[in-house]
Amino acid sequence: PNRFDSIPLAPPDSILGLTEAFLADPRTEKMNLTVGVYKDASGLTPILKCVKAAERKLVETEKTKGYLPIDGFPDYRSHVQKLVFSDQIPADRIAMVQAPGGTGALRVAGEFLATQCSPTRVFLPNPTWANHNAIMRSAGLDVETYSYLANDRRSLDFDALLDDLNTKTRPGDAVLMHACCHNPTGVDPTADQWKEIAKVMGSRGLIPLLDFAYQGFGDGLDEDAVGLRTILGQCPEAIVCSSYSKNFGLYSERVGAVGLVAANAAAATAALSQLKVTVRANYSNPPRHGGAIVATILDDDELTQMWKSELEEMRLRITHLRTQFVEGMSKQAGAPDFSSLLNQKGMFSYSGLTAMQADELRSKHGVYVVGSGRINVAGMDEKRMDWLCSAVADVVG
Ligand code: PLP
Repeated sequence: PNRFDSIPLAPPDSILGLTEAFLADPRTEKMNLTVGVYKDASGLTPILKCVKAAERKLVETEKTKGYLPIDGFPDYRSHVQKLVFSDQIPADRIAMVQAPGGTGALRVAGEFLATQCSPTRVFLPNPTWANHNAIMRSAGLDVETYSYLANDRRSLDFDALLDDLNTKTRPGDAVLMHACCHNPTGVDPTADQWKEIAKVMGSRGLIPLLDFAYQGFGDGLDEDAVGLRTILGQCPEAIVCSSYSKNFGLYSERVGAVGLVAANAAAATAALSQLKVTVRANYSNPPRHGGAIVATILDDDELTQMWKSELEEMRLRITHLRTQFVEGMSKQAGAPDFSSLLNQKGMFSYSGLTAMQADELRSKHGVYVVGSGRINVAGMDEKRMDWLCSAVADVVG
């Protein structure tokens, strides 16, 4: 018998399936709030001007497509180190590895934990980005969850979170946290709550695994690192997985990094050598182009300024749409209060819509929302906000 004939069909990705349905929807008045990428006012995911300029420069100056070192482009790694850690941690305590996107970074970090810190469990927030579970399991870790979202589905259940960290974990367990702009909910801890979390992580000897995929999309580049800085103030060891897909708009170029903080330089050197073993066995060395773009931009003051203002433009557009939506909903008679969305950060929000309401919104109005009620705020259209609000009011009223 053929070996492949009995292989079952894997379930399709539910979010991508909704986008296919959206594209096939013949209605002209429709809106896609499901996707996980930034959209500008014309509905495009643009290439940033600073990226285009850096690419032009690279075409002129790049001399080779030879392999990068296993841990990546040195210039890229030192810029990422500054962006993520500022000067909080001495460089010799950091092991930094370029990775193919935040996903690649998480996989490398997961395998590092599974092989070097065994037996390790990783605690994920409930809910979290769906891929976290799959990545961590594939890396060989046991996956547990900790409480995150309150029953209102729009705010943090901070007491339950602390309680779970205090009672469910053992020293040496890894705890994954979204450093900012929690996906899918948009619900982040406040600065004071980060202090409490950091204290518990430090005193219980937990390993923070910080997923930093949206730096600059919440309150600003430095502001969004507050949680991370607070954690690093209390924990001598941590791993940060960063992604430059969103804040440089480099999605398909696959640019990310693992930044491991060790308690001392000797431990960082050994950890780096093991991270490199993991990289070698997975993809040998990272792709060049995206990292080279980021390094080219951050090497150049003018391009860096251009990047910061383009990032700020994306951040402010999201904030503006969020406010406009909440104000629009407040004018809809009989609609519930959406003002808690104003406390949420980043591209995503849990709207509080139920799976049934999301279904009705799609079938009746052509507004596509994930069944969990997650909306991509950047997918909203400023000019059609009233239309969107009355559609939402129709299904929640
Ligand atoms: N982590 C979170 C929370 C994300 O939302 C994403 C992307 O959607 C990633 C990691 C992965 O990013 P990348 O596309 O760089 O692999």
